[in-house]
Amino acid sequence: MIDLSTLTIKKAHEALKKGDFTVWDLAESYLKNIETKNKDINAYLEVFADVMEQAEAVQRRFADGTAALLTGIPFAIKDNILIEGRRAGAASKILADYVASYDATVISKLRKEGVVFLGRVNMDEFAMGGSTENSAYGVTKNPHDLERVAGGSSGGSAAAVAMDGALVSLGSDTGGSIRQPASLCGVVGLKTTYGRVSRHGVMAMGSSLDQIGPIGKTVEDTEIVFNAILGKDRYDSTSQDAPAFSKHSGTFKVGVPFSFMNQGGIDKSVLDNFNETLEKLKAKGIEVIDTPMPNLEYSLSVYYVLMPAEVSSNMARFDGVKYGSLVKAKDLLEDYTLTRGQLLGKEVRRRIILGTYVLSAGYYDAYYHKANQVRALIADDFRKAFEKVDIVLTPTSPTPAFKIGEKSADPISMYLADIFTVTANLVGVPALSVPSGIALKEGKKLPLGIQLTAPHFREDMLFEFGKIVEDLKSTS
Ligand code: GLN
Repeated sequence: MIDLSTLTIKKAHEALKKGDFTVWDLAESYLKNIETKNKDINAYLEVFADVMEQAEAVQRRFADGTAALLTGIPFAIKDNILIEGRRAGAASKILADYVASYDATVISKLRKEGVVFLGRVNMDEFAMGGSTENSAYGVTKNPHDLERVAGGSSGGSAAAVAMDGALVSLGSDTGGSIRQPASLCGVVGLKTTYGRVSRHGVMAMGSSLDQIGPIGKTVEDTEIVFNAILGKDRYDSTSQDAPAFSKHSGTFKVGVPFSFMNQGGIDKSVLDNFNETLEKLKAKGIEVIDTPMPNLEYSLSVYYVLMPAEVSSNMARFDGVKYGSLVKAKDLLEDYTLTRGQLLGKEVRRRIILGTYVLSAGYYDAYYHKANQVRALIADDFRKAFEKVDIVLTPTSPTPAFKIGEKSADPISMYLADIFTVTANLVGVPALSVPSGIALKEGKKLPLGIQLTAPHFREDMLFEFGKIVEDLKSTS
């Protein structure tokens, strides 16, 4: 029996190299675990039928000496990332029959490494949401408490790792969709610098905000996957390589926007755990500096204007003609309205309408243009902060995992949960969520996470500092 709960990429790689177990054994262990746990948790939308064939095909790389660190490592892939010849549906009814005609760049990179793709995992429809309740295929439950959400939109990616249903996974993050579910499920999630990882082959939500990134049990696992998927790509004109920088040296200085954090609405368990984590960091000689970032309080308003605007444009292609199943009616206009009305979920339609409104003549200046101006001010807050500190710290989510149904009837309360995460997307900087302890709620131990934010292209600092936070092994 392979102990999946303590397995990391490096441990798995060593064991595969030594022959303690084969890629086949490893894949089989995960498949068995998925079989027992997925019916309750609903992380996987599809487990691929050819997992064992994939395992068979890469095993030889351990014999012929061409095995890379990720060879044979079992991955779960979010349902909005394309794998050639396989279904990809963004958890939407409109794409129920869609089969990808090419590999996303991140997938072709992982394929070269020889990873094993276990299956595609659940998400909020088209990545719009923070609980996976907007999936057309049912909610993903939190492996730590089945009455609670796994978070979202990459809830399936986080739950798959947390339930030992995959060693690592890929998610996408437009406003927190990798970090928030990672935090709620007690795993590590990385939102990469805007442009650092190619988005070719991920279904676009907000094109100035979206990034692909890894989820894993340890900081090092996310680092390994990140190193395998990054880089400029000729199929994504927004992608770029990191400019040269000198490595961080000395002790870290961390900034905390205390006034932003003390504005209310944050669960006491989250604040207590955050403060405890700060104390432990200080005890290690790390300087914690109060760093006012006065424009952060506008982040949610800015995000919920810009994101729907981009959503409304990106979703135009799902009309039953260019993409998506068609609901045939009496004429072209009715074809469109019925197709989109019947096959897109409520939250997706809400955002299309909202986005179309903020972009319309007469409102563009008042909303879209204004939001862009404030976006620049938020970027300025970060620029100034990073002149004084190396890392900005906040909690990842204002609450631990909430109950299924608790927020789904009230979109605003759901949007408020994104308070700490949307900023990194607006500014383009990388951010990492690392487990920081637990909250006890109704007798259940619910994971909490802390969010580290670094300057553009400085994922290296997130990994270095993330390992320090990971070692605190904080409990509350
Ligand atoms: N929860 C946020 C939203 O609903 C973030 C989603 C995401 O990052 N894809 O927009």
